[in-house]
Amino acid sequence: MFSLLSLKKKLHQVLCLLSSLINPKNRTLSSSSSVSPSAFDSQKSESVKMLEKLDEFDMEKSIEDFEAMTKDAERVQRKTLKKILEENGSAEYLQGLGLNGRTDPESFKACVPLVTHKDLDPYIQRIAEGDSSPILTGKPVPSFSVSSGTTQGRPKFLPFTDELMETTMQIFQTSFAFRNREYPIANGKALQIIYGSKQFKTQGGLPVGTATTNVYLNHKFKTTMKTMQSQCCSPDGVIFGPDFQQSLYCHLLCGIIFRDEVQMISSAFAHSIVLAFRTFELVWEELCADIRDGVLSDRITEPSIRSAVSKLLSPNPKLADLIHGKCSGLSNWYGLIPALFPNVKYIYGIMTGSMEHYLKKLRHYAGELPLLSADYGSSEGWVGANVNPKLPPELATFAVIPNVGYYEFIPLRNNSGEQPVGLTEVTVGEEYEVVLTSVAGLYRYRLGDIVKVVGFYNSTPELKFVCRSNLLLSINIDKNTEKDLQLSVEEAAKPLAAEKLEVVDFSSHVDLSTDPGHYVIFWELNGEPNHQVLSECCNCLDKAFVDVGYMSSRKVNTIGPLEIRILRKGTFQKILIHYLAQGAAASQFKTPRCVGLNNKKVLQILCGNVVRSFFSTAYD
Ligand code: AMP
Repeated sequence: MFSLLSLKKKLHQVLCLLSSLINPKNRTLSSSSSVSPSAFDSQKSESVKMLEKLDEFDMEKSIEDFEAMTKDAERVQRKTLKKILEENGSAEYLQGLGLNGRTDPESFKACVPLVTHKDLDPYIQRIAEGDSSPILTGKPVPSFSVSSGTTQGRPKFLPFTDELMETTMQIFQTSFAFRNREYPIANGKALQIIYGSKQFKTQGGLPVGTATTNVYLNHKFKTTMKTMQSQCCSPDGVIFGPDFQQSLYCHLLCGIIFRDEVQMISSAFAHSIVLAFRTFELVWEELCADIRDGVLSDRITEPSIRSAVSKLLSPNPKLADLIHGKCSGLSNWYGLIPALFPNVKYIYGIMTGSMEHYLKKLRHYAGELPLLSADYGSSEGWVGANVNPKLPPELATFAVIPNVGYYEFIPLRNNSGEQPVGLTEVTVGEEYEVVLTSVAGLYRYRLGDIVKVVGFYNSTPELKFVCRSNLLLSINIDKNTEKDLQLSVEEAAKPLAAEKLEVVDFSSHVDLSTDPGHYVIFWELNGEPNHQVLSECCNCLDKAFVDVGYMSSRKVNTIGPLEIRILRKGTFQKILIHYLAQGAAASQFKTPRCVGLNNKKVLQILCGNVVRSFFSTAYD
C-alpha cells in the first residue's frame, strides 16, 4: 500500500536516481539509448518538472475518495443528478420537459424520456451550426467528439466539455491509483501507441475531433500523464501526425530510443498494440538501420513527423546491434515486448468486449508480462474504472464511479420491458443495458451496451462488459450477438492452432441474396491452411452458434449453410485506413464485427478481397 510517507520516500529515491542521471559523468541509465544531447536536456528538465507534479497527485487520497463515494453510492448519485440538472437547468431541452427545477431521481425519471443519439441529433445539429443558446447544456458547448462510427456505420457528434475532461482525468487517476498499488511503476515513460485524428470545424466553427483526440490535445492530459509517471515517449508530432502508418512506425522507434525508461506499453484499445507489434515484425530491420545510422527511414515523408523524430535520433550502433540480437533470438516473436523493453511492468489498454479477440496475440508478444485491462467508457461519457487490476482481462470488471454521471440500467431479463433501475438497485447476475445522464448534456441516453452485474464494490456495482446491444446476426428467429460471434470464432479457430496459424481479424455479414439466407464469416489469416483444415473450421463455426433459434433454423434449412470467406492479407488494414480517411481515429478503432448492406464501402472491401470460400456441411 502507498502511504504518503512511502510516496515521499519513493520521491527521494527518484531524486537520487535523477541526480545520477543528470550528472554527465554517470549516464548509465540511458547508455544504450540514442538520445541526442538536446533531447537529453529537455528530458532532464521534463523529469524534474515531473517530480514537482508527482507531489500533486495523491494516490492514497484518490483511493480514499473512491472508497468514501462507493460506500455512499446512492446519495452520491442523487447529488450528481442534482448538480447536472442545476448546472443545465436553463437548457432548452430540459426546460421543455416540465421538471420545473426539480432535481430528484423520481421526478427526473417521470419527466425525461429515454433517448438514443437519433433523438438528440436535431439539438446537437443546432449547436454544431453555431446556435450558442443553452440547448442541451447551461454553458455553451466548446467542442465536439465524433464517435468512431464503427458500430453504427456512420459517425455521431457528441458534446465534449471541460466537465467531461475532468471526469476523464478522475477515472484515469482512480484506476491508476489502484493499479499502482499492485504494479508500482517508477519514474519513467510509457510507450503509448496513441493517435490523434483529423480535426475539423463544424459549420458553426466548433472544433471536432474524436474523443481520444480531444483528450490528448487537452493540456490536462499531459499533466496527468506526468503525475502518473506515464509520460508518452513519442513527441506530439508523432501522435498527431497526418499519416497513421508513419506515426505507428515512429511510435516504435521512439519506444526503442527510450527503451530503458519505458515502464508500460499502452493504448486506448488493445487493437493498436497488437497492430503495432505485428508491424514491428515487418519493419524491425529498418528500425535497426535507422537507429544504427541515426537517420530516419525514407518511408517517413511527413515533414511534421520527420522533424519531431529526427531530433531524438543520433547514430547508435550499439543499440541497433542489441535490438537486432534480441529479435534474432526470439522464437516466432514470443516475448517480443519484454525483449525490447526490459523495464516494462505491464501492458495496459481496453482488452474487453470486441478487443478480446486480440488477447491471444497480445499474450504471445507480452510473454510473462501482465495484461491490465483499462476502464469502461465511451465518447458519451465514462461508466466505470477497473479497480481490480490483477484480474485477467477476460474477467475484468468496472466499478461505477457514482460522481461521474447518473446511471440507470434497463433489465434485460426475459426481454421484460421493465423500467430502468438505479445504480444501487441492480441485481448481481443480471444483465442490463446502460443508460447514462452525463455532465455533457446527455439525459437518459441509451449507450447501446450490455453489461452484467458481477458484484458490488461497497455499494456501487461492478460490471462486466458483455457486448453491444444491437444484434449482429439475425435472419429469422436466430439471435447472435457480437459476443456469440467472438466465442464461435474462437472455437472454430482451434483446428488452425495445430498448424500454427491464427485468425488475424474477422467480421460477418448476413447474406439474404441467397434463399434461404445464410451467415457469412470473413476471416483474415496469417498463413494458408489446406482445404481440409478450413472445411473443418467452417463446420465447427456453424456448430459453434448454439443459439436455439439458429440451430433449429439450420436443421430445417430456413437458414442456409454458413460460409467462411478467407480474405487476402492486409484486408482489415484497408478497412482501418478507409475509416481513418473518414475522420476516425486509429486509437478508437474497432473492427466492424458485422457489415450490413448500408455499409457499402466496407462490404465492397471485404467482398473484393476474398481468396477462397467454404460452405458448412455440418447440418447435411
Ligand atoms: P467510442 O465512443 O467510439 O470510443 O466507443 C465506445 C464503445 O466502446 C462503448 O460504448 C463500448 O461499446 C466500447 N467500450 C468502451 N470501453 C470498453 C471496455 N472497457 N470494454 C469493452 N468495450 C468497451
